[in-house]
Amino acid sequence: MSLQTVNPAKGELVREFPSIDIPEILRILDDVVTDAAVWRGMSFYERGNCFRSAAKLLRANKEAYGKTITLEMGKPITEAMAECEKCAWVCEYYADKAAEYLADEPLETSASEAFATFQPLGCVLAIMPWNFPFWQVFRAAAPGMMAGNAMVLKHASNVPQCALTIESIFQQSGFPMNVFRTLMVGSDGAAIAIAHPAVNAVTLTGSTKAGEKVAAMAGSLIKKCVLELGGADAYIVLEDADLDLAVEKIVAGRMLNAGQSCIAAKRAIVLPKVREAFEQKVVAAMKEITLGDPTLAQTKLGPMARIDLRDEIHDQVQASIKAGAKLLIGGYIPEQPGAWYPPTVISDSPEGSPAYDQEMFGPVLSIVEAKDEHDAVRIANSSEYGLGGAVFTQNLERGRKLAREKLHAGAVFINDFVKSDPRLPFGGMKRSGYGRELSSYGIKEFVNIKTVVLA
Ligand code: NAP
Repeated sequence: MSLQTVNPAKGELVREFPSIDIPEILRILDDVVTDAAVWRGMSFYERGNCFRSAAKLLRANKEAYGKTITLEMGKPITEAMAECEKCAWVCEYYADKAAEYLADEPLETSASEAFATFQPLGCVLAIMPWNFPFWQVFRAAAPGMMAGNAMVLKHASNVPQCALTIESIFQQSGFPMNVFRTLMVGSDGAAIAIAHPAVNAVTLTGSTKAGEKVAAMAGSLIKKCVLELGGADAYIVLEDADLDLAVEKIVAGRMLNAGQSCIAAKRAIVLPKVREAFEQKVVAAMKEITLGDPTLAQTKLGPMARIDLRDEIHDQVQASIKAGAKLLIGGYIPEQPGAWYPPTVISDSPEGSPAYDQEMFGPVLSIVEAKDEHDAVRIANSSEYGLGGAVFTQNLERGRKLAREKLHAGAVFINDFVKSDPRLPFGGMKRSGYGRELSSYGIKEFVNIKTVVLA
């Protein structure tokens, strides 16, 4: 089996990398164990300096790295460079915060002294997706490794050059040579790594289907697992919403990265009073977004990452229309090579159809009308996913109540689209997974919380 760079803008194979064999996987894991011990012995200050160097490299080379991202998964170059900047931010954030987040915590008991202390688990296997091929990796690596863990990356098979580039960033930034390694393997190689005693825990960002498999393997070996899986985020537009703001944020939140984001605005759930105006404004805004060459700075919407993924979303759109949904714009495959798909809006997709209750991982917005606020919450929560969500209203108390008490999601934003941010916990519930990344919560996922009591 090989890992391939296929340029999704042209549909052309650019480069192939043979996947490594089992003895090579085992050799790398042995090397990681050796350097994990060195890394664990370093202070927060020393580890932080390595991450600060990585941040510098990410900023200095964001154009070159951005080009690799764009080549392999089609993201517009401006978004790809911004992704590198965000990686630099998360590196610096944890270089600054790790010591504070992982300081011993005194505990009050009848003993003379008691405290909780946070020790690294050892080595974390990171199984990562292609959609934010740098960010997903650094989002896991910065907290996990600042906590003192080593990391082994099994990246998605369609971003092998990103995977190798990330490994080289660590190797050029003063980290012990083998404390972060890339395994050039497909999903069968991931199974070997999960089973290996060198790997103490697993973090997976990807589809719910992959999550089921990886969690089962890790669970059977009693290895800790964090799962960041799919989402079908509901954005509720109440009758008192600032409609222009709602349209601006929902279109932006839907179209970023050609709609291939777990926290994209996938379903707009709109109250009757504003539905028609909302729909017209959304269609007008979508018409302004044109497909373009992702290597050009002005391009806002490039191709999707792979032709099979484009075909999959087109099938979902067609099946939704067949079930009774209305197509308002888009919904066709452009006649050109590559993984192109236009901005698409569908409305009134009935319950049971893909646009109502599946994840739509591409530039397709599904508009659903709700009878009232209560009904909007019912529809939002009817999804098997529970990653993010949003509420648009000018009554902030109403928005806060819905966000806090009613919506089943890992994050709810009011009057904005959901974003990941190093300062905010990130993760989902239901079939969107479990565990949290980022903030003080993320850095405690892969530590042994050890209780120490002095009688
Ligand atoms: P995917 O097909 O599940 O792949 C993700 C990673 O898992 C890849 O490295 C893949 O390797 C690996 N993988 C797949 N099946 C596996 C198995 N049986 N055993 C071990 N590894 C396996 O997902 P994707 O299409 O790349 O990404 C899109 C999905 O990720 C969407 O559902 C999206 O919502 C979700 N996502 C979630 C978040 C979040 O934070 N919650 C963020 C981004 C994306 P191969 O490439 O070699 O198959």
